[in-house]
Amino acid sequence: MRFTMDSADVFVPDGLPLEQALARTTHLAIAAHQDDIEIMAAAPVIECYQKPDKWFTGVVVTDGRGSPRDGLYKDYSDEEMRVVRFKEQRKAAFVGDYAAQVILDFPSKVVKDGASRGPVDDLAAILRLSRPKFVFTHNLADKHDTHVATALKAIAAIRSLPAAERPQKVYGCEVWRDLDWMVDEDKTPFDLSQHESLQAALLGVYDSQIAGGKRYDLASLGRRRANATYFASHGVDETLGLTYAMDLTPLALDPQRDVLDFVLEHIQRFAQDVADRFKRVG
Ligand SMILES: [Zn+2]
Repeated sequence: MRFTMDSADVFVPDGLPLEQALARTTHLAIAAHQDDIEIMAAAPVIECYQKPDKWFTGVVVTDGRGSPRDGLYKDYSDEEMRVVRFKEQRKAAFVGDYAAQVILDFPSKVVKDGASRGPVDDLAAILRLSRPKFVFTHNLADKHDTHVATALKAIAAIRSLPAAERPQKVYGCEVWRDLDWMVDEDKTPFDLSQHESLQAALLGVYDSQIAGGKRYDLASLGRRRANATYFASHGVDETLGLTYAMDLTPLALDPQRDVLDFVLEHIQRFAQDVADRFKRVG
């Protein structure tokens, strides 16, 4: 299998050839950076963990060159940082028993260029071989440009497939901005009560980011716990951890549907929810 960038990185933890490794995929995550998958898509990793009939594949679109660095990594060049981040992503794939892990190795600016086709073509090729039932990517109200750009490339790739080959469900997940603000009817919650130590291990391999001064491990586990407690104001906690996703499936089913209008409708429902409460109690 050839990707746009000759330097794209492929890792199959159990050593199968890539095509076979991809063909068993049921759950696919498409993320911007090394570590985003483990922050936003822990639910499908755990859903597939040690299950003979469920397999998780991760795809990271960018090259990690622009990563912030401090401490041990302070003097690393962009290329040294890229290598460190590739290794960390491979470690996560090993810990999580992924079916396969692909890093497409695009510079961020290529991903953020709305006209660039390379990422869309590569993602479409992976989707055609893996035929996942479920796809997880960034949510469309994320505040990181590369995250939203990656989600748009993922949606374009899904839309390029014949309707019968598209995934059953497409979810936009939480990284830079959580989805607590969405009205409850718009939230797709994923229960993360189980395998807490595995969740911690998946986040813990990213030493270059954590030592670089960002405790994504504690923050992500804390967000999951906060979501679980604050999901419902009445009644006891039903889970120990929750992540939310924005259901992007309507965009996959209807390629004509305007993507920006779709996300703005979520914000309008949030605004209406705030206004309705004022009508009740104001
Ligand atoms: Zn990211």
